[in-house]
Amino acid sequence: MIESSEPMFAPSDDLRMVSPEYSTADVDAELSLRPKSLDEYIGQDKAKDNLRIYIAAARQRKESLDHVLLYGPPGLGKTTLSGIIAREMGVNLRVTSGPSIEKQGDLVALLTNLSEGDVLFIDEIHRLSRNIEEILYPAMEDFAVDIIIGKGPSARSIRLDLPHFTLVGATTRSGQLSAPLRDRFGVLLRLELYTPEQLAQIVLRSASILGIEIDREGALEIASRSRGTPRIANRLLKRVRDIAQIEFDGRITERIASVALSRFEIDQLGLDDFDRRMLSVIIEKYNGGPVGLDTLAAAVGEESVTLEDVYEPYLMQIGFLNRTSRGRCATKAAYEHLGLPYLVSEEKSSVQQSLLS
Ligand code: ADP
Repeated sequence: MIESSEPMFAPSDDLRMVSPEYSTADVDAELSLRPKSLDEYIGQDKAKDNLRIYIAAARQRKESLDHVLLYGPPGLGKTTLSGIIAREMGVNLRVTSGPSIEKQGDLVALLTNLSEGDVLFIDEIHRLSRNIEEILYPAMEDFAVDIIIGKGPSARSIRLDLPHFTLVGATTRSGQLSAPLRDRFGVLLRLELYTPEQLAQIVLRSASILGIEIDREGALEIASRSRGTPRIANRLLKRVRDIAQIEFDGRITERIASVALSRFEIDQLGLDDFDRRMLSVIIEKYNGGPVGLDTLAAAVGEESVTLEDVYEPYLMQIGFLNRTSRGRCATKAAYEHLGLPYLVSEEKSSVQQSLLS
């Protein structure tokens, strides 16, 4: 059973088409498209193999699963995986998120309402405030919470026992988590960006659930422009379907996918206007870099953390951007993609050399 105690995210309506973040339009579709078992969950083989063993072992011992930390960019399947863990363990899932837990009491209420073995999923767990985080330490370690009753001199602390539960935390970067919290997770799993082949399988699966006609090449075309992210692949599939239905015969082929995606200004590699602008700012304003993250964020009008979590992972994966200790650098491949001449200055050449060595 999946229960959501509170809206998990604040879905936004005005996101770019290739944003990996959750939007209102994703709500219904995501529910029906979420794989329900590890076998249905495509890709992430390393994480899946590990989980399979841990789940089987915990089940055999009739114990709750150790606490799991999932980290990786948004839209890669962390929420989905927490649902699968609960299902495979045969327990309930309770879903919440760091920003929606405002008071210690909110978390205590959630914890004391759990049943034996339940999975508590906390998305964006790095955004819990420190005093709320402190409730989690004894809860994770000793399955207990300490609460203060009364005020002033008559105040006393009592310890409430909790059922053995599994905390599944999700974060975009494990480095954002405080060390005491991170240390209390027994299982740390990093989710990677998906390959175009894996995303094509996800697109084909989603198409069959949604009753969309699509051939393999069409799926691969959508997949290769989805920035390694299933959420984006599913969203693009739905938008391409609209165009295929209204302007063509409804069936998505490579050509139709390509026409539709170009119309959304998503290029062959899945880059949109913002990615291209960010790269051209690095190249034209900062001579290809290195440029500091905060300077770059100010120049493109975006928050540094969004650049780091949302834009950079994919640009680094396709080899267009390097993160160096001195800042961000655009690579030769990025110049070529944007059709800009690659002129290597002495300073840049020394940075590139140090990257290579
Ligand atoms: P996150 O919590 O990391 O932001 P979600 O778990 O919400 O990501 O996944 C976003 C959507 O992508 C889900 O609705 C699901 O349909 C799809 N998805 C994610 N991972 C997979 C996968 N491995 N196989 C198939 N679909 C997936």
